[in-house]
Amino acid sequence: MKDKMSILVVDDEPIVCDSCKKILTEKGFMVETALNGEEALKKFKKGDFDIVIVDLKMPGVDGMEVLRSVKKIKPEVDVVMITGYGTIPSAVEAMKLGAVDYVPKPFTPEELGQIISQVVEKRSKLVAEKAPKKGAILLDVFKKPPKVVYHPERVWVKDIKIEETLDENFLNEVRSTPGGERVIDCIQCGTCSGSCPLSYRMDYTPREINAMVRAGLRDEVLSSNSIWICSSCYLCTVRCPRQIKITDIMYALKNLAMKDKRFLKKAKSPLLSRYFVDNVNRYGRNHELELTLKFFLRANPRAILKHSLMGLRLFLRKRFSVFPKRIKNINQLRTMVRKAEALGGLR
Ligand code: SF4
Ligand code: SF4
Repeated sequence: MKDKMSILVVDDEPIVCDSCKKILTEKGFMVETALNGEEALKKFKKGDFDIVIVDLKMPGVDGMEVLRSVKKIKPEVDVVMITGYGTIPSAVEAMKLGAVDYVPKPFTPEELGQIISQVVEKRSKLVAEKAPKKGAILLDVFKKPPKVVYHPERVWVKDIKIEETLDENFLNEVRSTPGGERVIDCIQCGTCSGSCPLSYRMDYTPREINAMVRAGLRDEVLSSNSIWICSSCYLCTVRCPRQIKITDIMYALKNLAMKDKRFLKKAKSPLLSRYFVDNVNRYGRNHELELTLKFFLRANPRAILKHSLMGLRLFLRKRFSVFPKRIKNINQLRTMVRKAEALGGLR
């Protein structure tokens, strides 16, 4: 990979080209722009670009045509499709043709930076081209790097998976868990991954998680950090063109991971979650001091010292009470928690 990655921005609106160029140049990329598809393809053939950001709707050669040609000339180049007229069919077509992301306009500089960071991060994980093993069944599925290979018909394929090792019941298991019902409706447009503020820290993006559930990659999904990194911000949910509640799918997966006791040993979120529910069950509300002390004592006692100053500041601002406050009629809440547990909920 070159020291500086090179990006071609293609849009018939000069202001979009100029803005993207400014934002991305400041982030250390080499950026060229083109105001139409013809100019873009000429520049692309002469240049050495790593990423192409292209507008879907342009007069003459449109974004879909540019995507098709780029993938034909240099399949390893990542193409991000941007559009002010997003539709589900166009998103599906772009992803099928190999676009790495499909982003509705307008977007903020932060969103653009985040999308390109994700693309760069993925590219940096790529290892040398590797031919698939003879006899292995190639699936468009995902497994944690480092075994990332490029396969011409499948865009980037992370590892090769033998069909017999997949869990064909996993999809039904997720669909029958509250919150996981609509995982099957995902069209793999990638909007959730592009929107997620934390996907850069996840083993697999939300879109990949959905695909992996459908492919039956039970172990990989339930032991990934993605479901615990999700902070339930609901951004993916409000932007999903199919109105799929991805946040709820993450909750369903957390639930299954906890039942299986298969979650990452190093992950602290399940522990925090358990102490939080215990706390609420006892007082009817959270008691921050007790929760943080219990959590840090178990998870990382040395961190107590590190965070004590912040605790003191919170205490001085009355955000951290020393004594717990119990709500009235706590037994009603406990009845609800017992009922949730009886229905399969976990602490
Ligand atoms: S969950 Fe929604 S936003 Fe995410 S890939 Fe599927 S359809 Fe697109
Ligand atoms: S709810 Fe979770 S998966 Fe969705 S955008 Fe927020 S952090 Fe990402």
